[in-house]
Amino acid sequence: MAISRILIANRGEIALRIHRAAHEMGIETVAVHSTADADAMHVRLADHAVCIGPPAASESYLNHAAIISAAEITGADAIHPGYGFLSENAKFADIVEAHDIKWIGPKPEHIRTMGDKVQAKKTAGALGLPLVPGSDGAVSDFDEMREVAAEIGYPVLAKAASGGGGRGMKVIPSEDQLETLVKQAQNEAMAAFGDDTMYLEKYLGNPRHIEFQVFGDGRGNAIHLGERDCSLQRRHQKVFEEAPSPVISQEDRMRMGGIVADAMATMEYRGAGTIEFLWEDGKFYFIEMNTRLQVEHPVTEAITGMDLVREQIRIADGKDLSVKQEDIVFSGHAIECRINAEDPFTFAPSPGKIEYYHQAGGMHVRVDSGLYAGYTIPPYYDSMIAKLIVYGRTREGCLMRLRRALEEMVIQGVKTSIPLHQELLKQPDVLSGDYTIKWLEEWLAERA
Ligand code: ADP
Repeated sequence: MAISRILIANRGEIALRIHRAAHEMGIETVAVHSTADADAMHVRLADHAVCIGPPAASESYLNHAAIISAAEITGADAIHPGYGFLSENAKFADIVEAHDIKWIGPKPEHIRTMGDKVQAKKTAGALGLPLVPGSDGAVSDFDEMREVAAEIGYPVLAKAASGGGGRGMKVIPSEDQLETLVKQAQNEAMAAFGDDTMYLEKYLGNPRHIEFQVFGDGRGNAIHLGERDCSLQRRHQKVFEEAPSPVISQEDRMRMGGIVADAMATMEYRGAGTIEFLWEDGKFYFIEMNTRLQVEHPVTEAITGMDLVREQIRIADGKDLSVKQEDIVFSGHAIECRINAEDPFTFAPSPGKIEYYHQAGGMHVRVDSGLYAGYTIPPYYDSMIAKLIVYGRTREGCLMRLRRALEEMVIQGVKTSIPLHQELLKQPDVLSGDYTIKWLEEWLAERA
């Protein structure tokens, strides 16, 4: 039976994004929401809505039993987890499938493998992806760590196998600090993930963050949709993303894209995935794979003309990939600005009521957001309230259009990151595309 009703196990802009793709396919939607999100736009637009708990995510958006019950009660035949929350929870994916509900995501075994970074790195290495030099798997003994670190050379990075969101990670500049810093990273990892397994990696000095979008049909066919450059980051959080990367040649794109697509085909990977690399001196180094849709997926949609959520739903329904690699044409340039409800330069959160809202528009301007005038942004969740995605035939045209679109966006009542993006668009390095993962923090430090 084809999917006819999708439960959206998420909130905010991504819930709306999924609702839109579903309705464009003639599929009904079920919104599940916490008491804090009763007034959310996607809840209003969905065909069915179920309140699944109080504001705390642990009791609502992460509550397996409440979500499965909501799916059973409303007769949903598929669940889309969006990003964050349960999207990379293999156990939840198993439970969904055990209830004969289609999981719009990768096979649980692949979520599990890639969720453990030590396993992920081993798998990636075996599939022929270039790795950051480092320990061969997990290390727990300090003498062994010192040996490995001496071999790869300082500075090294201690990383948690279960890490995510930049937590459980410490740069170790020299041997005398190794034990102290690893212990700190272990404590952080234990507190955040309940697992203090660590591994060591060469700390790359000034790389760019380049990630490839992949799709597999779960039966041995896979494609890549090129790369995104997400180097403008603050505290390992992406702020501004573009596709294609200003530094990757078409030759490198197709070479590396071919390698990742082959790897996914060999794994029999199913659905959407992102393979993240650091890129330095013309070389790619695998860091991790995300087994879900990414926040920044619209820039890939803009340059390929493909609807990635539609593709995810089709694959979950057992259909073939809608395109072959040779049919994919990359055209033009796209940039996404993440707009958060926070002070643009101190980053202090700024939840509250939207007094006035005017969305940017015009040719090649897309805003993914559930905002409306009168809406109150709850303080309990992520601060991202909108994504502005702009397309241009050239990078230069895209930057001009982005500047124009940012001028048009008006969000009153809370502070937002719009002024930060406007300031970034005045920086020669941003305009020329000459930035690495260090750039934004260094610029912010100089500005302060
Ligand atoms: P997480 O899952 O916590 O996001 P990642 O492995 O994706 O962890 O790394 C997050 C960010 O940390 C990267 O985008 C990059 O900025 C930095 N980073 C990770 N590994 C390295 C490394 N070996 N050298 C330098 N920076 C790194």
